[in-house]
Order: sequence, then C-alpha cells, then structure tokens
Amino acid sequence: MPDLLQLEKRHLWHPFTPMQAWCEDDHEPLLLVSGKGCTLTDQHGREYLDGNSSIWTNIHGHGHPTITAAIRAQLDRVAHTSFLGFSHEPAIQLGKALINLLPGSALGRAFYSDNGSTAIESAIRMALQFCKQNERPERDTILAFDRAYHGDTLGAASVGGIPIFKGSGNDFGYRVQRVPNLAALESLTADQTSRIAAVIIEPLIQGSAGMRLWPKGMLAQLSRWCLDRDILLILDEVMTGFGRTGTMFACQQEGVVPDFLCLAKGLTGGYLPLAATLTTERVFEGFLGAGRAFYYGHSYTANQLGCAAALGSLQVFREECVMENLRGKIMRFTELLQTLRELPQVIEIRQLGLIAGIEIGPYPPEEQRGAKVCHAVRKHGLLTRPVVDTIVLMPPLSVTEAEMKRMMEAMRLGIIEVCE
Ligand SMILES: *Cc1c(COP(=O)(O)O)cnc(C)c1O
Repeated sequence: MPDLLQLEKRHLWHPFTPMQAWCEDDHEPLLLVSGKGCTLTDQHGREYLDGNSSIWTNIHGHGHPTITAAIRAQLDRVAHTSFLGFSHEPAIQLGKALINLLPGSALGRAFYSDNGSTAIESAIRMALQFCKQNERPERDTILAFDRAYHGDTLGAASVGGIPIFKGSGNDFGYRVQRVPNLAALESLTADQTSRIAAVIIEPLIQGSAGMRLWPKGMLAQLSRWCLDRDILLILDEVMTGFGRTGTMFACQQEGVVPDFLCLAKGLTGGYLPLAATLTTERVFEGFLGAGRAFYYGHSYTANQLGCAAALGSLQVFREECVMENLRGKIMRFTELLQTLRELPQVIEIRQLGLIAGIEIGPYPPEEQRGAKVCHAVRKHGLLTRPVVDTIVLMPPLSVTEAEMKRMMEAMRLGIIEVCE
C-alpha cells in the first residue's frame, strides 16, 4: 500500500486540489476500495458513511444488485458503440422512460452526453442555435444568476457565478447577463431583455453556492417571466434530479415545465457518467429542414453501460417505491438536523429534501474550518466535503434512520472538536 500512495503522489493530479499540500509526506490519501449501501471502505478496512452521496451522484446506495445486474447484462452484449449514425435499445428505452417521468409535459426529446457540464453545454448551444436559425439572431445572451454553478467546461463555466470555478475568469463565445435575483429582471432595459435567448437556473436550490434556497414561488414566477417574453428556460437539475429534493425533479414542486431539463449526476444512480438534456418538440422542430443539424456531440454519447445503469436505477425507483418512502425519511432528516441547530457554532442549516447545508461560523475563510470539520468527521466514520464553511450532508435516498443518526452524531462531534 505505501508503494501505491507513492505512485499516487508522483503521477496523479486531482481536481480543485492544492497539490502541494496533497503531496506532503504527512498527508495520507484515503483510497476507497469498496462500497455497499451507504457504507464505503478504505484501504485499511475502515468504514465510512457516504455523507455526500459520492459528490452528489449516488441515489440507491453502492453495490445495488439491480443496477449491478443491469450493467453486467449489458456488458455481456456490448460495452460501447457510437451514437453518431447508429442507435441502440438501451438509449431508446431510457429516452422514453425519462420522458415518461414528466407526464403531460412538453418535454419530448432526449439528447445524451457525458456529464453535467456537457448537459448544460448542450442546452446553451441548442438555445443559441435555435434563436440564430429561427429569425432571432439578435438573441445572443444567456441570463444567469449570481453564485450559480453549472459545471466546468468553458461554456458551462461561463454561466457560473462563483469566481473560483472560472479559472481564467473569461467568458467564452457568447454573452452572459448576470443578475442577483428575480427582482433584478425588472431593472433590465428593453434592449438587454430583447437579447436574451435563454435563462439558466438551478431550480429551488443553488448547490455549489452552499445549498442556498430560492424563495418559495420564485421558480414559477421566473417561468412566467420567460413565457411572457418567449425566452427559453434552462433548468439545471444535475444536482436536484432523481428524488433528491423530495420530488422526482425540483421543478415539479412549482409546477414548472422548462424548455430544457439538464440531468446527470443521479441519472445512472451514481454508477457511471451519463447525462441527458431533455427538450421540447418545438425546439427540436427548430432544427429540422435541409442542412440543419445540432452540431455537437461526444465520442461516448449514450454509452450503453450508462444507459443500462440508468434503466436499472429507474427500476429500483419503481420496485422499491423509493419516492413513496422518501417523505417519512425527509421528515426524520429534518428532526435529526435539529440536534445540530442547537450547537452554538452552527449559524444556519438550509435544507431541501435530503439535501442539507450546515453553516458554521462566522470564521475567516482562511481558517478553513469547514474543511477541518470534514476532516475531523472521518474519525467518526463520515465522509463529506464543505463549500467554504457550509458542510454538506446529502445521503443517498436509500439511507436508513440509523445511518442518518450516525451521520448527525459524527457531524456534531466533528463541529465541537474543530470549533470548540
Ligand atoms: C455537479 C453539477 C454540474 C456539473 O456536473 P459535472 O458532471 O460535474 O460536470 C452542473 N450543475 C450542477 C447544479 C451541479 O451540481
């Protein structure tokens, strides 16, 4: 094992990670070797609860027999073939199943890609190309919100509003109009509004901003604002999709149907990278006609194993009545979070469904208390990551009450230890 860690430090490079500190001798990277349900096991056989669903991806727990069997069965046929010029049954079945999750809505087309960022990238490109080739070339702007996070490709990062995720800080290829909230839309000039092709938002809750909730009714109002001006609405449900907020999709809580619904993280139950951008027949028809095509795609688009995993995950939703059981679980989650609210170091807890942001402080950011708490809770058998001083607790939907209790206790001990 020491050899493996030496190789790791010598050859690998991690995302969003200060590598100087990572490579120091006294830092022992955690190697995760196996997982079952909400439990992950490291190289020493120590067990941890997966407190952030392996960075917001896992839905039904690790090693779920139904998803594993679905992937295995597909693997015995073929692992991957091209979606450029060919099709296959898992993609067709999954497309139909995703559309069926939004019964009666105008969303009737599924476009596949590989991850959340490319799901967003696809929606932005579709919206801009749709306007350009359908007599609205002046609509060259995407409106986005402050503190939004929509992914890391240049196109997706351009609509993000969190500086550290933007790297060089440049916007690329198209215009972005940024606003802090709904009220700010009213102060846009007529000229500014007339240039907006689409509005993009994380519905109900901004994830990477630190689990910040939008006011109730905001999404429905935004949707109306867009409809009145014939502006396209892109919903980024990469984090909120697949039950995380208590409904299958967050937009259903305010009865909103967007022009684009971007799905990734939980789509495969958190087993394989796959994304889908759902859109309407109207947008699709805007791409018909001689010589027209949507000029975008990736080598692994609609990967068969990913589609099989996603179908497996949807099967678990049905067979195990996941959404029906969720309501009681969320109520228990709310009650248990109360034990943390009582700590003097906790200044706010923001919760939606099985997503919680526990904010400690106020502390100067350079003290990195959030990161220290996340490190401290490892000793108590919990893995998670912070957003500055907001600690994320987002268990898989399969979490049990006993596991939720253990997560809260680990969190309580960790906070007290780091912030006494
Ligand atoms: C994670 C995330 C993304 C980006 O997804 P990746 O798969 O990491 O590219 C986009 N939007 C939201 C809201 C996310 O949480």
